Amino acid sequence: MKVVISVDMEGVCGVASWVQVSPPEFGGLVNGTEYQAARERMTLEAAAAAEGALAGGATEVLVNDSHDTMRNLIPELLPDGVTFTSGNDKPLSMVEGVQHPGVGALLFVGYHARAGSMRGPLAHTWNGAVRNMRINGVDTGEYGLNALLAGHYGVPVVFASGDDVAMAEIRQELGEQVVCVSVKEGLSSFAAVHLHPREAQRQIRQRAEKAVMAAKKAVPYTTRWPAACQLTFDHEARADACERVPGITRIDNITVGWESPNAYHLFQTFRMLAKVGEVRLNG
Ligand SMILES: [Zn+2]
Repeated sequence: MKVVISVDMEGVCGVASWVQVSPPEFGGLVNGTEYQAARERMTLEAAAAAEGALAGGATEVLVNDSHDTMRNLIPELLPDGVTFTSGNDKPLSMVEGVQHPGVGALLFVGYHARAGSMRGPLAHTWNGAVRNMRINGVDTGEYGLNALLAGHYGVPVVFASGDDVAMAEIRQELGEQVVCVSVKEGLSSFAAVHLHPREAQRQIRQRAEKAVMAAKKAVPYTTRWPAACQLTFDHEARADACERVPGITRIDNITVGWESPNAYHLFQTFRMLAKVGEVRLNG
């Protein structure tokens, strides 16, 4: 069985600020020292999940860098034998790889809560412009969008690690079959109490192994189709721009809506609208 590991950064142990997850070429934050430490810890958590997956019976592991520029992983720190992605604009973005035959499980590492979540460190959905994504009446985040897209290819989510708020959201939406590891407890939007990084990595390795061993019984995530979708932004100008896209309707001042026949259509429409909504707000 092949396994894909989607690794984000905001939910990694020790991370609580945008400074830590912003590659220095963007934002020009400090000198990048904190980013370098965080990307190393991100890679070690991905490595722990990969080792667990291999011990649990995975025959191939693809580690999919899913944060920002998607060039964060330090490949030399990954276990021998795995493959990894690097670089942004992949066909399936954060779950690139699940579309290939033989993939039996998707693992989330470093995941964070959806936009607007209380005490979820760095809680957001996709970019800073999105305030909420609602699918068939359920408010969701990157975890839900990614799980639906993986489900479109028959691949179940079996494991997740990140902050405690994200883990609660994932369990609530995706169900108890997802083995969760909370590596930190959110104190506010920009503060957390963390496990020791090596303890976080130890738990990720152990539970990823268990999760992959049980993957054959796991059920791919889905919803009712066609799905009613609503995307809410933080500013009405973003909804103005999205409203002009054919097939998109205006729901309220900051919300646009559409209907998707399947998760591939849903994911790509969301992704396009998130981009269209990235308008300058200074007129
Ligand atoms: Zn991220």
